[in-house]
Amino acid sequence: MKLATRIEQVTPSMTLAIDTKAKAMKREGIDVISFSVGEPDFNTPAHIRAAAAAALEQGKTRYGPAAGEPKLREVIAQKLQKDNNLCYAAENIVVTNGGKHSLFNIMLVLIEPGDEVIIPAPYWVSYPEMVKLAGGVPVIVSTSLDQQFKMTPEQLRQAITPKTKLLVLNSPSNPTGMVYTPDEIRALAQVVIDHDLWVISDEIYEKLLYDGAEHLSIGAVSPEAFEHTIISSGFAKTYAMTGWRVGFLAAPVPIAKAAITLQSHSTSNVCTFAQYGAMAAYEGSQDCVQEMLQAFTERRQVILDAVNAIPGFVCPKPNGAFYVFVNISKTGLSSLEFCSTLLDAYHVAAVPGVAFGADDCIRLSYATDLNSIHTGMERIQKYVQTLV
Ligand code: GLU
Repeated sequence: MKLATRIEQVTPSMTLAIDTKAKAMKREGIDVISFSVGEPDFNTPAHIRAAAAAALEQGKTRYGPAAGEPKLREVIAQKLQKDNNLCYAAENIVVTNGGKHSLFNIMLVLIEPGDEVIIPAPYWVSYPEMVKLAGGVPVIVSTSLDQQFKMTPEQLRQAITPKTKLLVLNSPSNPTGMVYTPDEIRALAQVVIDHDLWVISDEIYEKLLYDGAEHLSIGAVSPEAFEHTIISSGFAKTYAMTGWRVGFLAAPVPIAKAAITLQSHSTSNVCTFAQYGAMAAYEGSQDCVQEMLQAFTERRQVILDAVNAIPGFVCPKPNGAFYVFVNISKTGLSSLEFCSTLLDAYHVAAVPGVAFGADDCIRLSYATDLNSIHTGMERIQKYVQTLV
């Protein structure tokens, strides 16, 4: 069967594929430990669930505006002002089906055929594929472990051509867990301004910071930087709401309006009562975020100690998100070979670095309980003993 070229040039999401396989193995009764998908193991906090349940009971079950519930757009704009020093109003906000959908919307409304989009590697698996689906050309800028996987302003400058339209920036980073310092963000902002680019700032991990790391949104660097920035974010990672599918974008009004038009012909509104849960997430107490962060902090230390105890593994200390990105080149295997035996023979799911543009690494998500981390790392250690 001949499918459209647009889809034939795109590969399926490996993070989702491995998660699906691991969950299917579990259903078959296999004791799989999953370090694969970036999904907090916590239940969504009670007050958020209660708000959605109440909305459901109150009949918030009908179509709403494609842009999102007016009150939620307002609440998101207030949050961006308060937490991030970004001067948005409700009209700048579009509520989307998760962070992923906001990114896809932005790409579809901005990218012309042949436009180049700069993506620092290691990158989240879906960025390049979204660019291709939108008709653009992903331009990958490789970064290495000794630069802590962070793109320098010089690297960015060198990657820019007359066709460059966009830069995708993700800090804290999935998959590396690295966080650009405020000074590094300011330096990148200057390049973006000098070359009149758009930057999509994917800030979905902004609350997951360790060791005193600080998150500065590139849009908050200066009024000029703000004019070049589009924010993508969502509720999934901070509030353990992965399955709810509520995210948002914040952009200058013409871009927000275009994204609303796009949504009005594609998805319409995000699930109405889920949006009421999202309102409660931002309006309610943030203690739940601190509690989860505390758990992630402990898990991060445990997984890092275990990774560093494995001869041949090299891993920089991440200060954000909930991933460790481990260099496995000493095993002599590609990341796919490594992860496929790891899952089939040792029943541990991890994501091959090749999905993120780094075939010498694997990604381990530590958004899982401590027992699983201990057991999973023991299995990985046993496996690596057979290799190095
Ligand atoms: N963003 C998460 C991850 O990288 C969820 C899966 C996905 O959408 O890729 O694991």
